[in-house]
Amino acid sequence: MRIVLLGAPGSGKGTQAQKLVAGHGIPQVSTGDLLRAELKSGSAPGLRAKADMDAGRLVADELVLEIIKRRLEMDDARNGFILDGFPRNCTQAQDLAQLLRQIDKPLDAVLLLDIDMDILRKRLTGRRTCSVTGKVLNIHFSPQQDLDASIAAGGELVHRADDNDETIARRLNVYQEQTRPLIEFYKSIDLLRVVDAMGTAEEVSERIQQALKY
Ligand code: AMP
Repeated sequence: MRIVLLGAPGSGKGTQAQKLVAGHGIPQVSTGDLLRAELKSGSAPGLRAKADMDAGRLVADELVLEIIKRRLEMDDARNGFILDGFPRNCTQAQDLAQLLRQIDKPLDAVLLLDIDMDILRKRLTGRRTCSVTGKVLNIHFSPQQDLDASIAAGGELVHRADDNDETIARRLNVYQEQTRPLIEFYKSIDLLRVVDAMGTAEEVSERIQQALKY
């Protein structure tokens, strides 16, 4: 199964991608994660991407395409993948279509995680990652016992550098202007399935399973 998860930053793409990984045995391919890994390793593409990432702007298309191409050629992606955070503009959507055409592996579905903008802001400003388990938590929404468990395990709740107010506003703006047009694009080629992304991760996951059935 080859799926694109489309949605604003904070709509739950990462969480739902992980649930799909567990259920379908195909990898999550997140360009944000791949870029952060490049940055951490100090590679040339990582260093090139840093300023744009820190500012909440999109990284150059050709750099992202190169990274995604390399990732999709890996063995574990042979039977499918869940794209999380790619494509993010029309050029990337065209590049992806061309790439998949070359290997004769078209997309099966594009799932739009549909969510209210006010909830999104809270999700993004409250998002923290436990430094011990890597679990993503939210100071506004996670159960207190989960937050306490992270602290008790000796973890720190780490705030992502690009989850500050100014960068969040810019990332939401970038989404509205550059990524939202992809909704119409995928609707026009009959791949789009809209999923209500409000509620718990489990509820959204159940809706995704239903959406993948038709
Ligand atoms: P994310 O973790 O998906 O929110 O991505 C974090 C940052 O990485 C974004 O704000 C962009 O700067 C960069 N990024 C991730 N995916 C892409 C993409 N497909 N195209 C361009 N930039 C990206």
